Amino acid sequence: MSAKIYYKDDADLGLLEGKKIAIIGYGSQGHAHALNLRDSGVDVVVADVEGSPNWKQAEKDGFSPVTPLDAARDEKVVWLQMLVPDTIQKKVYEEIESEIKKKDEMVLGFAHGFNIRFDRIVPPENCDVVMVAPKGPGHLVRDVFVDGKGVPMLIAVEKDRSGKAHDLGLAYAKGIGGTRAGVIETTFAEETETDLFGEQVVLCGGAVELIKKGFETLVEAGYQPEIAYFECLHELKLIVDLIQDKGIEYMNYSISDTAEYGEYSRGERIVTGETKKEMKKILDEITSGQFADEWIKENENGRPIFKKKQEELSGHLIEKVGKKLRGMMDWLK
Ligand code: NDP
Ligand code: MG
Repeated sequence: MSAKIYYKDDADLGLLEGKKIAIIGYGSQGHAHALNLRDSGVDVVVADVEGSPNWKQAEKDGFSPVTPLDAARDEKVVWLQMLVPDTIQKKVYEEIESEIKKKDEMVLGFAHGFNIRFDRIVPPENCDVVMVAPKGPGHLVRDVFVDGKGVPMLIAVEKDRSGKAHDLGLAYAKGIGGTRAGVIETTFAEETETDLFGEQVVLCGGAVELIKKGFETLVEAGYQPEIAYFECLHELKLIVDLIQDKGIEYMNYSISDTAEYGEYSRGERIVTGETKKEMKKILDEITSGQFADEWIKENENGRPIFKKKQEELSGHLIEKVGKKLRGMMDWLK
C-alpha cells in the first residue's frame, strides 16, 4: 500500500477557470467527461465526426460540436482531451498537430497511455501531457457523478512544460468527479503496461479461454451443453461479484466447503507455474513494444486475425447455447 492518492481538497477547480477544454470524441468516455466538466462550470467544446451518431448526441445534449481541426483552431481552446479510439488517435493527432504547435499554452490530455507510451504520438515542446484515466466505463463515470459521487481515477504526467501539469490534471479529475472517490498517481508507462497485461492475461484472454476450455471439456465428455454453460460461464459472475465486493476470503466463506477445498487442491493444477512463466513472457512482449507493433500492423493490414477470431467465436457452441439460455433469463438485459 504505497500509491499516492489525491482527494477533493488536493485539487483546485479554479485552475480551469478561463480555460476552454476540447473533448475530442463524444463516445463512452468523451460524453461523460464533457457533461461532467460542464456541470462543474468548465467551458467545454465537443469535437466528433461531423454528422455521426455521437455528433448528433452531442447536439441533443446541448453542445455545438465541431471537427477536431476546428476545435484545435479555436483560439480559446488550451486543452485537447484525446477521447477517440486508441487506434485512431495518431491519425486525429496528425490532422491537428500544426494547430497545436501554434499555441502558447496547451494541455494534451489522454485517458489511456498507449499512444504516448509507444511513441505513436510525440507531442511538441509547447505541451503539457497529462493522463486522467477513469477506472470505469463512461456511462458509470456519468451516472455516478450525477449521484454526487465519482469513480476512482488514475493521474499521470508525461510532460510538465507549464510547471502546473499535475495540478491541472487533478483539477480536470475533480471536474469529472474523480477526486470524490480518489485519484491514484501513476505513470503513462505503468498505466499502459498494466492495462494491457490485465486484459490479455486475466480479464479477457485468460478468463475467456478458461471459460471456453472448461465448457469444451464437459461437452466432449458427453455432458449437456446447457448444463456446461451454467457451470463454466453463467456462474462466474456470481463468484466475481463476491470477490469484487468483499475479496477472495469472503467469496471462499460464501461458497461451500467442498467448493473451497476444490479451489485449494485443484486451482494450481490449472493455472500452473508454466502458466506464470507464460504470463512473464506476455509482460515482456508488452514492455518491449512487440505487442504494440503487432497490433498496429494488424490494424494497418485490415485486421485479418481479429476478424478471423471473431468469426470462430461466433460459431462456437458456447455462444449458440448461451443465446438460447439467456433468452430464458428475463432479468439479463
Ligand atoms: P469510443 O469508441 O466509445 O468513442 C470514441 C468517439 O470518438 C466516438 O464518438 C467516435 O465517433 C469518435 N471518433 C472516431 N473517430 C473520430 C475522428 N476521426 N474524429 C473525431 N471523433 C472521432 O471510445 P472510448 O470512450 O471507449 O475510448 C476513448 C479513450 O478512453 C481511449 O483512449 C480509451 O482507451 C480510454 N478509456 C476508455 C474506457 C472505457 O471504458 N471505454 C475506460 C478508460 C479509458 P462516432 O462513433 O460518432 O463516429
Ligand atoms: Mg483496463
